[in-house]
Amino acid sequence: MSEQSGLGFNSEHCFIGGEWVAPVSGEVLRLENPSDGSIICRIARGGAEDINKAVGAAREALDGEWGTKSALERGRILTRIGQEVLKHADELALLEARDVGKPLKQAKADAQALARYLEFYGGACDKIHGETIPYLDGYTVYTLREPHGVSGHIVPWNYPMQIIGRSVGAALAMGNAAVLKPAEEACLSALAFADITREAGLPAGALNVVPGLGEEAGSALTSHPNVNHLSFTGSVGVGTLVQRAAADNIVPVTLELGGKSPQIVFDDADLEAALPFLVNAGIQNAGQTCSASSRILMQSGVHDKLLAMMVERYEALEVGPAIADLNVGPLISARQKDIVSGFLSEIEGNARIVARGKIVSDAPAGGHYVAPALIGGVEADHVLAQDEIFGPVQVVIRFETEEEALAIANGTDYGLVAGIWTRDGARQMRLAKALKSGQVFINNYGAGGGVELPFGGVGKSGHGREKGFEALYGFSVLKTVAAYHG
Ligand code: NAD
Repeated sequence: MSEQSGLGFNSEHCFIGGEWVAPVSGEVLRLENPSDGSIICRIARGGAEDINKAVGAAREALDGEWGTKSALERGRILTRIGQEVLKHADELALLEARDVGKPLKQAKADAQALARYLEFYGGACDKIHGETIPYLDGYTVYTLREPHGVSGHIVPWNYPMQIIGRSVGAALAMGNAAVLKPAEEACLSALAFADITREAGLPAGALNVVPGLGEEAGSALTSHPNVNHLSFTGSVGVGTLVQRAAADNIVPVTLELGGKSPQIVFDDADLEAALPFLVNAGIQNAGQTCSASSRILMQSGVHDKLLAMMVERYEALEVGPAIADLNVGPLISARQKDIVSGFLSEIEGNARIVARGKIVSDAPAGGHYVAPALIGGVEADHVLAQDEIFGPVQVVIRFETEEEALAIANGTDYGLVAGIWTRDGARQMRLAKALKSGQVFINNYGAGGGVELPFGGVGKSGHGREKGFEALYGFSVLKTVAAYHG
């Protein structure tokens, strides 16, 4: 069974050079609906030969129609794609809900974010430019901001639409041609998006999509000698392989990896305001969010009160199929459920589950459901407070002083996002500087924040920045021109 929705794609095909083509091997993979374990459809099992064709098509686009488009024309095309995505937002949301298992409201928000990225980067295309540089007498020196060329994009299953929007959107804005390898667990929105780009007038080859396994299509893309830039979002383990492959070909790479992001709540915080941010940042997308806030640091003066408030919220959380649009959906796979259950079996010492959400009674038996778990009494160096769990689990850590909170917050290998809840302005500024984190939110928490906000990590959370204007610098290269005219 292949998926041939109104969105115009054939799930058993790759999108190469503006055409839907069967993978060279003729092989397919099966795509599962995480809400009930049923098979949605078959997808292409793209491999090295398909990647090679896609990279060739991208190069042809750069040497042809796409490469000759002005910044204004690129901007108009991207804006049109964004508008088409918006028109199809409901269909895209349904597709994503079925494929990823995320509640419909979240899936709809993701479709809207995809549109927003295209609109943002469409508008930015002709607003980024080089500079003139004062130099020696008799010279005029200026810089040109140019595309890298063929840019390879490897995307995970948790937020396909948002991640495609931010990486492919910025790459196309700067005039690169993209080859996208979506995740084998969830790739339907990538295929639907490809068809929307064609309808909106993106020249053939400017975007190519090759679904398939990471170790096959993914590694063929990262090691391809004609790929000039790589953007990877996923796990630290695979990110390490991608960086090695990039080193072999000496190409720049942006790595968006995991996190163990803290929110720090001080005694003077507005607890009512903080509460929804604390909980949502842990359970959104069933906790399968790189910027999930999985550590809640509570100062001892508010610890008991705030914990009780969180417990009440947790006990009201409902877990069920994506289509029921409850607070939490299933995890992506049986494997992910096993990983999360494994972490829950590590609870020891003073740590204990203080509250859990409820899986609704009519949740299909084949779905991969885990009731959200709030764990109290966790030591800051325990595995539950150190490792990325990637499920609906938050740990609560008690602290006494600002210094202690900072040491705990900075005390993991990661550094993606941090939240501070305090009314003390000086403390806000001190901590915003001292936290080792790509983003810091003060009296709110954005789980990556808006389209406009540069996003990326420090430490094992990765390097390079996506989103916002900043991404455009990473997706382009600067050329200096020095003209001597006497
Ligand atoms: P993953 O690393 O297993 O897979 C991500 C992508 O890499 C998939 O498309 C996969 O097919 C591909 N891949 C796998 N092996 C490959 C290889 N050898 N060569 C090239 N590509 C390969 O990650 P996942 O389990 O799908 O996603 C979860 C992880 O992603 C979590 O750690 C999470 O924190 C991280 N993540 C980070 C961000 C961010 O922006 N920082 C966003 C979402 C997810």
